[in-house]
Amino acid sequence: MSVSFDIKTFGCKVNTYDASLLHKRLQAAGFFRHHEAPMVHVVNTCAVTQEATREAMRYVRRLRAKNPLCTIVMTGCSAQVDGRLLDSMPGVDLVVANSHKGNLENILIDYLKGSRTQKIFRSNMFRQDSLGEGGDLEEGRTRAFLKIQDGCNSFCTFCIIPYARGKSRSLSVSYLCDKINELHANGVQEVVLTGVHIGDYVDESHGKAARLEDLIEAVLVKTKIPRLRLSSLEPIELSERLLALYADERLCRHFHMSIQSAQSDILKSMRRHYTAQDVEMALESIAARVPGSFVGMDVIVGFPGESKELFQETYERLEGLPWTRIHVFPYSERQGTRAPLLENPVSLEERKWRSKMLRELSLERYKAHALEAVGQTKKIILLNSKSQKNLSGVSRDYWNVDLTNAPETTESSQEIDVRIIGFDHSQDVEGSLLGEVVYGIH
Ligand code: SF4
Repeated sequence: MSVSFDIKTFGCKVNTYDASLLHKRLQAAGFFRHHEAPMVHVVNTCAVTQEATREAMRYVRRLRAKNPLCTIVMTGCSAQVDGRLLDSMPGVDLVVANSHKGNLENILIDYLKGSRTQKIFRSNMFRQDSLGEGGDLEEGRTRAFLKIQDGCNSFCTFCIIPYARGKSRSLSVSYLCDKINELHANGVQEVVLTGVHIGDYVDESHGKAARLEDLIEAVLVKTKIPRLRLSSLEPIELSERLLALYADERLCRHFHMSIQSAQSDILKSMRRHYTAQDVEMALESIAARVPGSFVGMDVIVGFPGESKELFQETYERLEGLPWTRIHVFPYSERQGTRAPLLENPVSLEERKWRSKMLRELSLERYKAHALEAVGQTKKIILLNSKSQKNLSGVSRDYWNVDLTNAPETTESSQEIDVRIIGFDHSQDVEGSLLGEVVYGIH
């Protein structure tokens, strides 16, 4: 069917892969991408907070006002958990939840032919066993985000994800190694292993269960990908075996720790399966075993029951631990989860104030680490399009580096050595390191 389409994606990297897969399947079915005036708009939503769903709804209202004749399809996590709300929204033609996302192109074709009048396609996500392959290349085509699993087996009290994406399902080690070899053959220099909860990764296709450590080991042995990076982990997922794998410098010294709090009572009421002491041990082990790593963390402030004293405990514990940056999230109620029913909610004003305090702590630490990097030489890969004037890249230890001079050629996608000559935070809050190319492209 030769009809133009465009996709707008909200939310995380997993949703971005889903979008690239939808793109491929729509193209295979005859649709073609058109950014300016498409006939079909696919809106791939995120449901992590109630506000995320509202943001997608506002986007749809704007689309409809601009183009009264187009077809609007809402898919993704909000379509799964807020399906009824989207179904009742005027201006939406189809609601295709995650449970039916794999068949979206056929549902759309039937709708456009007029052979289906049903508006909402949604069923229980927990019955899903299958997992579509994913993988998304960035504009610079040097880094790929590779989905290794989807769904989550934990039911943290603040999170709707298991209801939106179902139980954890993983792709096999052999499939992923083949996929990485294929990406590398096409010029990709870095693969980021990503999923909704990569600590849940397990491949049971060959009898003995292969966990995340087995997957990383296999990738390091069976592929020649120069850089491998992990997405988010929880403190108790940082095993001895995993830390030992960082002896191979292809595994980038960058950790993203999803800690959420550094206070044991709050962690318990979030239904996280670790304590403040586990957080301490994890961060100290990284500093001791993988020195020089960039350590980012997610922390929620103002969770119900977090008194001023308990917040202070998290703040002071984090202040004394080694890390590089904190992504601070003021707690946001999400309908359908248990946390809004907990006692002692924290006022919005207090959540805002705590966010500000922790963000200031994070910025201070981040800038101190950035200044320590000045004078060092780092290996970067370019991330933006080579035709762009202002080139920038990312180092193995996850620093964004803006180049002050262009490499001899911008044809190659390989790593470039750059000397860090400064730190600029005039453009945005966090800023970037400034680097000059010292040896040209390898
Ligand atoms: S581990 Fe918790 S926060 Fe993370 S996706 Fe699963 S339920 Fe949500």
